[in-house]
Amino acid sequence: MDKNFRILNLDISYDENEIKNKPWKPTLAYAIFGFLWILFSDKILSALVEDRTLYEQIQTYKGWLYVIVTAVVLYVLIKMDNFRIFELTKQLTRKNEELVAFSEELVAMEEELEKKLVSLNVLTKEMRHQKEFIEAIYNSSNMVIMVWKPDGTIVNYNEHFKELFKYDNELIGQNWKDRLIYNKGAIDVSELGGRVIREKTVENIESEITNSSGEVLNMVWNMSLITDPLTNEPIVASYGANITGERQKEKRLVELATTDVLTKLKNRVAFDNEVNDWLYRGQNFTMYLIGLDNFKYLNDVYGHLYGDVLLEKIGYKLEQEFGHQNVYRWGGDEFLLIDDKYEDRDVEKKISQLMTIMTKKWNIKELEYRSSASIGIVKYPDNGSVLDNLKSNLDVTLNHAKQSGKSQHKFFSDDLIESIRYEAAIENELKGALINDQLELYFQPIYDMVDDKVVSMETLLRWPNNNVGERNIGKVISVAEKTGQIIMVDRWVIANVFKTICKNKDVFGTTVISINISAQSFNSKKFIDYLNEQIDAYHISPSQIELEITEYSIVEDLEKSTELISEIKSLGVRISLDDFGTKYSSLNYLSKLPFDVLKIDKSYIDHILLDKKDQAIVSHLTSLAGDLELNTIVEGVEFEEQKDMLLELGCRYGQGYLFARPLPLKETLSLLKAKSGKSMIS
Ligand code: C2E
Ligand code: CA
Ligand code: CA
Repeated sequence: MDKNFRILNLDISYDENEIKNKPWKPTLAYAIFGFLWILFSDKILSALVEDRTLYEQIQTYKGWLYVIVTAVVLYVLIKMDNFRIFELTKQLTRKNEELVAFSEELVAMEEELEKKLVSLNVLTKEMRHQKEFIEAIYNSSNMVIMVWKPDGTIVNYNEHFKELFKYDNELIGQNWKDRLIYNKGAIDVSELGGRVIREKTVENIESEITNSSGEVLNMVWNMSLITDPLTNEPIVASYGANITGERQKEKRLVELATTDVLTKLKNRVAFDNEVNDWLYRGQNFTMYLIGLDNFKYLNDVYGHLYGDVLLEKIGYKLEQEFGHQNVYRWGGDEFLLIDDKYEDRDVEKKISQLMTIMTKKWNIKELEYRSSASIGIVKYPDNGSVLDNLKSNLDVTLNHAKQSGKSQHKFFSDDLIESIRYEAAIENELKGALINDQLELYFQPIYDMVDDKVVSMETLLRWPNNNVGERNIGKVISVAEKTGQIIMVDRWVIANVFKTICKNKDVFGTTVISINISAQSFNSKKFIDYLNEQIDAYHISPSQIELEITEYSIVEDLEKSTELISEIKSLGVRISLDDFGTKYSSLNYLSKLPFDVLKIDKSYIDHILLDKKDQAIVSHLTSLAGDLELNTIVEGVEFEEQKDMLLELGCRYGQGYLFARPLPLKETLSLLKAKSGKSMIS
């Protein structure tokens, strides 16, 4: 701009006074000269010239001279004046030209300025627009925008921040760690600031913010590093979205997914989440898995509504006693209690508290019901380190407790797992053995101890050369009972016994063959149909077949058992009550159910020589059975002396190693040929 300007000198040199006085000076000079001329020229002339005519002539010349002189003077003066005027005019013209040029320059400059002003205006307008635009974005955004120093000091925030957090400008200059964060331990603001400096942007940081009304809001933040234009220092711009609604919905969904509908206790999903937290904290704890005994019975007999009420009541009681936080509905008739106490005496105390609750009397509508439960106890970290492992150990331990009888509690142990693995191997092998006919039938004779003749044969299953190496068929049977394979096993035995009899009709003749039938098979729907089919298929005389059942088969439902037994008997098949004396030993069954044979368990025979009580029991049982028209067989006779004693006590039929061990078919046939006696059937 400067170079476009120059100083304009408009100074024209003339004496103003001179110009102003100019007319007076020549006029005055002319007047004085004229006056002096008139005054002196005539006097001088009259003194010099005495001739009148000459005088007058000279007077005329003098007049002419005066005119000429004054004309010359006037001419000179006017000439001088004109010259000066001319000079001034020249000067003025030059100045004027300069002025015109300058004025043109000024006009050009003004035009340029105007142009610049216009573009400045445009720029200013544009900047204003941009500012407004940015402010609009900043303030109308439904995102909270907060600018803060890396130590947490708030520098600025937008309108939405003010609306949502209900603050005006008072938070500027304050640390948001102190003023906004709800759970101070959950987020380290200065650490976060450091992270933003390092990483430039940090995304999806969630925090709980308390607003000035005390409401807690869930916010998710994206943060980026910017430079403060004033101080040139790094600052953090955080863009936060309010996700409180979403989090509440999620919370509600999580609640729904983690709460048991019936008892309102937490469920297994909640357990999974929470136990992972316990594991993460590395804290010791004990878990008690509680399974109601005979819950199915309550449901079956009284209906599911009764079952539901019981579960609700027990759930409520457990919650009251141990707190909502620690109790879960595990599903079905099972509950779980988790406890951070780990010491033996604390655990014992918990077990006794639990047992007290679980064996309470409950009023379910009009029914007064006494419950009982089994408990499996698993400790962390002793009994497992990961969730799945702990859960499967809980199931295993509760199962073990249940199998041990009612109201039992069992602790998890490695042996337990070992035995489970072993049983799983048996289960697996047995599947193949059933398909590939790798099982074998042995027969143990039952003797008429008076005649020393074979009166019947008990079929006993054998599984030679099995890969598991299990020799004890009792163990295999108990595994098959747990897995349900027993039904297939019993069917296999029935079919193969019938096939054997059929094939060896000439030797077996009418010898009664007894077959052990498990409670599950006996109570299974199609058992009788199957039996009937096989009798038909092998043309077996039903009276030659005797089924050995135990008290386990009838204890659940006496009425149903009576019907089943009658139905079996109506086919012509005989029934014996095996292992009598090992469980309930209810004489009630003997009188009520139409058994043909009573087998007195080996445990009474073992001490029969010394134990007077056993002698009395065996003697009375035998005579009672006689009165009820039942035959008795004593099991496990090993010694001659036992046989003699048993004969003395009135027993006639016996089974045991003394007479013969269970024999393979070939030896059975030989024995039958040699020792077949009269049937027990009278
Ligand atoms: P159980 O029905 O009580 O069979 C008698 C058991 O006593 C047999 O054992 C037999 O070998 C054994 N025993 C017989 N006399 C004596 C003796 O004098 N001394 C001793 N110490 N034991 C004697 P085993 O064959 O090992 O069978 C065990 C159990 O397995 C049977 O007890 C029965 O409950 C079950 N079982 C065997 N075979 C079958 C079967 O085919 N089906 C079913 N469901 N269970 C079977
Ligand atoms: Ca038996
Ligand atoms: Ca037996």
